Order: sequence, then structure tokens, then C-alpha cells
Amino acid sequence: MKLLENGKRLDGRALDEIRDVKIETGVLKRAAGSAYLEWGNNKVLAGVYYPREMHPKFMRDPTKAVLRCTYNMAPFSVDDRKRPGPDRRSQEISKILSEALSSVVLLEDYPDAGIDVSVEILQADAGTRCAGLTAAAVAIADAGIPMRDLVSSCAAGKIDGEIAVDLMKDEDNYGDSDVPLAILPRKKEVVLLQMDGKMTKEEFKKAYKLAFDGAMKVYEVQKAALLSSMDSVEGGE
Ligand code: UDP
Repeated sequence: MKLLENGKRLDGRALDEIRDVKIETGVLKRAAGSAYLEWGNNKVLAGVYYPREMHPKFMRDPTKAVLRCTYNMAPFSVDDRKRPGPDRRSQEISKILSEALSSVVLLEDYPDAGIDVSVEILQADAGTRCAGLTAAAVAIADAGIPMRDLVSSCAAGKIDGEIAVDLMKDEDNYGDSDVPLAILPRKKEVVLLQMDGKMTKEEFKKAYKLAFDGAMKVYEVQKAALLSSMDSVEGGE
């Protein structure tokens, strides 16, 4: 499948252009914090339940809270029905999301507690781990849980021999490789970096820069969503 035509992508984007990202906070009444995110054709809901005593008990840590993120794809989120329940892929993504988020939350403030973060993929169009992580970070901030930074994420990959940011589904399926990245946008630290497929060192450097710049654009959207929710609280809405 041809993915590039005169330097333009199937959806008309330039190589360094990310899909539109929209985020809304406080969408779930009973969650401590929540966020709904649309990223191109991805639709993601993230909710936080905290702080409470960690269960099961043997997982408790008297020195800090344990943050557990569960990534789940709804059966209707993909073209072929997704079998409900955890599988190897969702377990892997849950683990890397938990690790990335744990690195940013001040877990020491809540000894013995468990912070549960649910990421529900309602509609998937590639890049869902980046979209899920981005939504989860906003949901944690929306819950008022102390964090030393946000987590912002974006991927870049190789399509028809060119490096492009934020691959959508056909590009992910028919492209050559994909590099998901997540950063702490103010501290400029990397908290997630993976690679699927092959790239030369030069291609990787280019992909890394595109993904990094993409994540910084996503950060602006996250910040705007959190600021507008603060405005509406102050405005008494
Ligand atoms: N996908 C699918 N069925 C599955 C898992 C994934 O159709 O059971 C699709 C979905 O659109 C997903 C894409 O394949 O976004 C790429 O999956 P990958 O593992 O690369 O993760 P992602 O790019 O979503 O972070």
C-alpha cells in the first residue's frame, strides 16, 4: 500500500504534522480525576480511583503508594472484534504506562495507598498507548494528585522510507517501524521509549526528534485542558 503521494500522507498531513488532539477533564462524576481524549480517530477515557488502602494487601508499600494503570481495549474499538479481557498486549501496555506514570507522581506522599488508573480505549486508530498515557496523566492531574511534571507522549515511524510523526492505523499497519515516546515535558526527561521494526541510527534520531516535538505539542493541549478546568472551578461553574 502506497502511503505517500507528493510528500503528503493518506490523510493529507505533512510528515511532521500530528493529528488533532482534544482533551476534556472532569468527565466522570465518581472518579477522583478523569479525562476524555480524542486524538485523530482514537477515543480514550481515563479515570483515577485514589487514595485508598492498597489491595491486595501483600502489594502494599509502607514507604509509598503503588500506582497501577490498567489499559483496556473495548471489543468495538477495532475493526475485528477485540476479545474482551486482558491479553499479552494489554498487559504489556498496562505495565509500561504504570511505570511511566509512577515516575512522575509523588508516591511517597501516600504510604500504603493504591492509586488505580483506568485507561479505556473506546476507538483505536494506532498510537493508543501514547493517547492512553497522555489521557491518564491529565486524569491524575485532574484528581489533584501531586506530580513533579506531566507526562506527554507521541510516536514517530517510518513510512515508504520516510520518517513521519504520529502514524495512523494504515501507516502503522503498512509502514516499516514505529517509535512511541513519552516525556516529562518541563524536565525534558524520557519516561518511555520503544521501537517496533527497524531503523538506521540516522532515521532513529530523526524519529526521536519528531516524536519529541510532537509530545511537546500534545503538552500544550494537556495544559490548556487543565487550565480551562481550573477556570471553570474558579468561575463557579
Ligand atoms: N489493533 C487492533 N486490534 C488489536 C490490537 C491493535 O486492531 O487487538 C490496532 C489498533 O488500531 C492499534 C494498532 O493496531 O491502535 C496498533 O497497535 P500497537 O500495538 O502498535 O499499539 P498502539 O499503536 O495503539 O499504541
